[in-house]
Amino acid sequence: MSIPRRHFDALIIGAGGAGLNAARRLAGADLRVAVVSKVFPTRSHTVAAQGGVNAALANVLPDNWHWHMFDTVKGSDYLGDQDAIEYMCREAIPTVYELEHAGVPFSRLDSGKIYQRAFGGQSQDFGGDQAVRTCAAADRTGHAMLHALYQQNLRARTHFFDEFFAIDLLRDDEGCILGALVLEIETGEPLIIESKTTLIATGGYGQVYRTTTNAYINTGDGMAMALRAGVPLQDMEFFQFHPTGVAGKGILITEGARGEGGYLINARGERFMERYAPRALDLASRDVVSRAIATEVREGRGCGEEADHVLLKLDHLGRDVVGRRLPGISDICRTFLGLDPAEQPIPIFPTAHYAMGGIPTDRFGRVVAPAGHGPEEIVPGLYAAGECACVSVHGANRLGGNSLLDILVFGRAAGTDMLQFLKENPNHRPLPEAAVDKAASRLARWDRKGEGESVAKVKAELRKLMEDHCSVFRTREVMAEGVEKLKALRERIEGVRLKDHSRVFNTARIEALELDNLMDVGMATLCSALYREESRGAHSRIDFPKRNDADWMKHSLYQREGDRMDYKPVRTKPLTVESFPPKERVY
Ligand SMILES: Cc1cc2nc3c(=O)[nH]c(=O)nc-3n(C[C@H](O)[C@H](O)[C@H](O)COP(=O)(O)OP(=O)(O)OC[C@H]3O[C@@H](n4cnc5c(N)ncnc54)[C@H](O)[C@@H]3O)c2cc1C
Repeated sequence: MSIPRRHFDALIIGAGGAGLNAARRLAGADLRVAVVSKVFPTRSHTVAAQGGVNAALANVLPDNWHWHMFDTVKGSDYLGDQDAIEYMCREAIPTVYELEHAGVPFSRLDSGKIYQRAFGGQSQDFGGDQAVRTCAAADRTGHAMLHALYQQNLRARTHFFDEFFAIDLLRDDEGCILGALVLEIETGEPLIIESKTTLIATGGYGQVYRTTTNAYINTGDGMAMALRAGVPLQDMEFFQFHPTGVAGKGILITEGARGEGGYLINARGERFMERYAPRALDLASRDVVSRAIATEVREGRGCGEEADHVLLKLDHLGRDVVGRRLPGISDICRTFLGLDPAEQPIPIFPTAHYAMGGIPTDRFGRVVAPAGHGPEEIVPGLYAAGECACVSVHGANRLGGNSLLDILVFGRAAGTDMLQFLKENPNHRPLPEAAVDKAASRLARWDRKGEGESVAKVKAELRKLMEDHCSVFRTREVMAEGVEKLKALRERIEGVRLKDHSRVFNTARIEALELDNLMDVGMATLCSALYREESRGAHSRIDFPKRNDADWMKHSLYQREGDRMDYKPVRTKPLTVESFPPKERVY
């Protein structure tokens, strides 16, 4: 098959905050930059981020980056790499100002400074009183950011391939990444994009769970591409369940709602967080609040006819605060629940939200992977940033407001390092035919109609399986059964029915490709979780209820081949300050 080719200095797969912040850096330096996105760029999931982005600006209360760093290390349950965390927390401050200058319309305090709100896990003075660190544009921060970044890219003449689906990376025998095979969704025509360096910025994979805050497009495509290129995935057992999803629907109610003074109650009207986090209450770290809600429901104190959720109260805040600071939440409640949060409490339950794990990188965004069973090496020319990457700054649990920060800081860091890479590697490497054939075979696999069951049916089973076998509380027995079931389900994808894709804009074929990716990242999650025999952050084992630093202060690495697990040490040494040694985590 002869496939048309385009050549660029840099290829960026994904047009969320991470991809666009990297692209802006590269295009601003007059390089030829291609950004591929399966949806129109401003529909990337970053657009849905509500609450805000953390930076120790100290606009409301005293603050500094070192306290932010402490909170992030503690929030990560000591699994985060402290060099990367120090870098991120320091960079947060110039990053937010840079965004402000790029045109993000942040909300304002009366003083005219950027508005900041309280979020979970934030403290002053290394674990003292609540800090106020999350910079917000009402409850639509991601929307404001993504549009500003897109406009900056238009100005810098970034070349956008909108509604193109990346199928697979192109890799030569020496392991160098030479671009990607992509598919124009509308026409079904493949295209080879050859690049000197490539960034994966494809976001998360919340669609692997039945109830999730994530968009339909969050299917872990980039992570699965990395796995197929021989790169392991790191810390995949750590998947964050956000405490406040709309019960049964999964739509997110931002942590900002509790930051503005909202709180949770059970069927008896008790403010139950008093029992689980006496000091931080409703603003304890997310894993703590999610477990508390799940426990209340499990022990019979849930609300509603089925006693299957708890309530988030905002009505005491007054119509003015709710309307001005949480307008998007008010819209969601009116549209999806037919209630007014300024008058009635919101039914909520934890919902799958965020992947702490992903493609292993260093703090320059370079993908690092063990060569076979050997030591770690940089994969030449390959970068990853954003939710699909694992730097790791979130360790076992991410703090609210730290993901928008992560995508901006490490998106930019990757862009900067790619500039350097291009200086040292100014020419395209030859693209061997075998590399093209390998990527094209993945496409050919789905180039048929098939008569079997629908993609949607198999996908629904996968999502239910993950929810039943790998959610807030976990045990060996339940997860081992999940792995076996997933192996069987994986087989069934071969037989799925693909309708005549020339007439349905490839939807069935694209969905099959996405499902294939979801199966891989689902398996990575289940296997990593099965093998980690301790409870840490978001990974909560009923059979191993304690954190075990002696045996498990290490990152997991899942390899697709043979579902193999490897491990590597946590980088506990920061760049300039003293390490924060592991302590018991109380809020
Ligand atoms: C509802 C919600 C609210 C949130 N609120 C906050 C918040 O207030 N604060 C905070 O810090 N974090 C928040 N988060 C988390 C944060 O928004 C995300 O982690 C972050 O925006 C991810 O950005 P990204 O650039 O990595 O990926 P995304 O924004 O998800 O973008 C991924 C891009 O990859 C492209 N892509 C994927 N696969 C392919 C493929 N195969 N081919 C081509 N293109 C592909 C997509 O088209 C898209 O452009 C929230 C998340 C959700 C779901």
